[in-house]
Amino acid sequence: MLRDELKVYFQPVVRCSDGRISSAEALVRWKHPEMGVISPGDFIPELEKNGLVSQLDHFVLGKVYQFQKFMQEKGLKYVPVSINLSRQDFYNDQMINDIFSYRMQSRLPGGMINYEVTETSVAVLKENCAYYLLQFRKNGAKVLMDDFGAGYSSLGMIGNFPIDIIKIDKTSIDRIESQPVTRSIITAIIDVCHKAGLSVVAEGVENVSQADFLRKTGCDYIQGYYFYRPMSEENFRDLLISSQETLDQMDSPNSQVSETAGQQVNSYNLLDLVDHSGQFIQVCHPEDYSMVFANEMTRNISGHPDEPYQGRKCYEYMLGLNAPCGHCPMKQMGDETEKEIETDDGEHIFRLKARFTIWNGRRVFMEYGRNITETKATQTRYTGQIRSILEALPDGQGVFHMDLTADRWISSGGHAQNARNMQNMESVDSLIRRIGSFVPTPEGQEEFFRIFCRDAQLKAYQNKQHQIVHETESYYDDRSIRWSRITTHLIDNPSNGHIESILYGVDISREAKHIQELEIEHLHGKQEKELLQKQVRMAMEMYSKADRDRRYDHLTGLYSRLSLNEFLEKDEKEQPKEIEAAIMLDLDNFKDINDRYGHAAGDRCLRALGSLLLNFGVSRKIDFYRYGGDEFVGLVRDPGTDLSKLSSDLLSEIRKVCVKYGNAEIPLTACIGITSDGKDCQAMINNADKAMYLAKHHGKNQGCTV
Ligand code: C2E
Ligand code: MG
Ligand code: MG
Repeated sequence: MLRDELKVYFQPVVRCSDGRISSAEALVRWKHPEMGVISPGDFIPELEKNGLVSQLDHFVLGKVYQFQKFMQEKGLKYVPVSINLSRQDFYNDQMINDIFSYRMQSRLPGGMINYEVTETSVAVLKENCAYYLLQFRKNGAKVLMDDFGAGYSSLGMIGNFPIDIIKIDKTSIDRIESQPVTRSIITAIIDVCHKAGLSVVAEGVENVSQADFLRKTGCDYIQGYYFYRPMSEENFRDLLISSQETLDQMDSPNSQVSETAGQQVNSYNLLDLVDHSGQFIQVCHPEDYSMVFANEMTRNISGHPDEPYQGRKCYEYMLGLNAPCGHCPMKQMGDETEKEIETDDGEHIFRLKARFTIWNGRRVFMEYGRNITETKATQTRYTGQIRSILEALPDGQGVFHMDLTADRWISSGGHAQNARNMQNMESVDSLIRRIGSFVPTPEGQEEFFRIFCRDAQLKAYQNKQHQIVHETESYYDDRSIRWSRITTHLIDNPSNGHIESILYGVDISREAKHIQELEIEHLHGKQEKELLQKQVRMAMEMYSKADRDRRYDHLTGLYSRLSLNEFLEKDEKEQPKEIEAAIMLDLDNFKDINDRYGHAAGDRCLRALGSLLLNFGVSRKIDFYRYGGDEFVGLVRDPGTDLSKLSSDLLSEIRKVCVKYGNAEIPLTACIGITSDGKDCQAMINNADKAMYLAKHHGKNQGCTV
């Protein structure tokens, strides 16, 4: 604060009846080197916003004491000076303590420094403010209610608060001449105040008609430009010196503190000033440890919630927690007036704020704090969690600790400390991008970001996933590229409710190599298996081809002799007799055809006959087999077959065939033997064979049915 530029001005207050100076108000001015005098209305609100106004008031308090002390020491007559207190002063121990201690040290008579409070402060602070005001009064000072009528003041306040003087605000005074109702109100206020034993000051009186009205209504004092403007300390001193004969010290008709009001206010205490929701509070006298106050929470912790604490030694009352031993916060204070302490009673952990302060005008030791046992336990869990993550890491491994909620990185350890420009990371995402740059390929970097960006991490956390793992290639310090397993643990920080993430990478190149080898092995196994399968498939194909070859005659497409044998074997063993008749067929002159046209022509004739027999047999339920070179066997299944007709039909079909070979046309004829005679199939074939030979015997191109 620019103390040199701050000046305290004084505005005299005169007695209404005779205009004699009876007191003054201290008003601050800021003498700005360039901007000139700045009035408090322009800079005090700013100081209030920044919590600095108490420093200013403290400064004014000191200056006013100096002034009064000067007058006192010079043996001059002087008048009470009031200083303006702002609401924040009531929360400022230094200010409040000095209000009391300056008075003691200065040895000024009581009532030479008074305090102006605004009705809004009083209304907001209520009992707390009342308690202090009462202490001021006990200390001999007067309390002035400033700006009365400017806000939401009510006359009810007058009876409920320890106030000596009411200052009617200038806004009301301004309306005296124009508003009859204001005149009535002012008259009523003055009347009520007098009845309640309070004096009245009219503020901002600027003309004679206002002054005349006030005088008539019995107003006690006037402060206004009509008499005096605020003036510098020097001018005020000179004024006082020149007015020594006429000075009249302000007095209130009833400056005695009302006993009932006192008792009422006494039931409030200093501690009400502190927001103590969820806090335990106790106050003791430091000389003998006797307890003067313990709130409900403290009483509960002490184990005797209903027992009176007054007069008890604090260590008797709060046994364990506060005994005058190593545990007692008072012992730990040393010369300090305020200290934050953590202590425990073996069962609970408490975070305390302990301080020496003034209470009821007496020095007291006061503690207020919270039971942080639960918080501690969760905090211990949290730190334990972090420790166990870090301990599991190889030495010097890079670790990034980030706060996802606040979107910032908290710290980095191991190799990560060396990471370039980490200090400039303004968000989690820029950090993740930076870490991701250790992945060699742009696609890999994108994937890395997609997996670990802040949104992805938060989403994982919301889905109750507390870990994200990703394996990727990374550049190492020696520029080698190795495999890393990147892991992030998502944890809650109980102290601020934030979600944090601890991210680190572990070199898994060896592991990855091992896996690769296993994969290759696996691959080999796979290949071998495939090869084997292929071989099996081929063998199966070959087998089935062989089987087919075996079962079918490759030239004619009819069943082979082998198939016939198999069928006959089966028939012998298990098949019921289902063959009605057997046909034996032999091509005529086949040897001649071969000899004359060659084997190829012979083959063509056999193929032609084969396809004829195939077609012929399908419709008539006859299976034909190639029995030998040009011999064929047919097994007739249809029981209703007319065997003679069958013989003639087959012969006529064969006669229709004329095989073309080169220019030659080779007609086909055959001899057929058909029989249904025989105990089994084989016997039927034998008999059919005999019948066929019979037919041959009778000439070619004919059949014999027996
Ligand atoms: P306030 O406490 O009500 O002070 C009275 C104000 O009325 C002063 O304004 C004074 O100069 C002005 N005044 C007195 N008589 C007349 C008059 O006849 N006509 C006119 N027009 N004005 C008159 P100032 O000095 O500008 O102070 C304004 C306010 O700033 C004060 O109102 C007070 O609330 C605050 N203030 C001043 N000094 C301090 C301080 O040291 N600490 C704190 N917390 N507040 C201060
Ligand atoms: Mg004032
Ligand atoms: Mg005022």
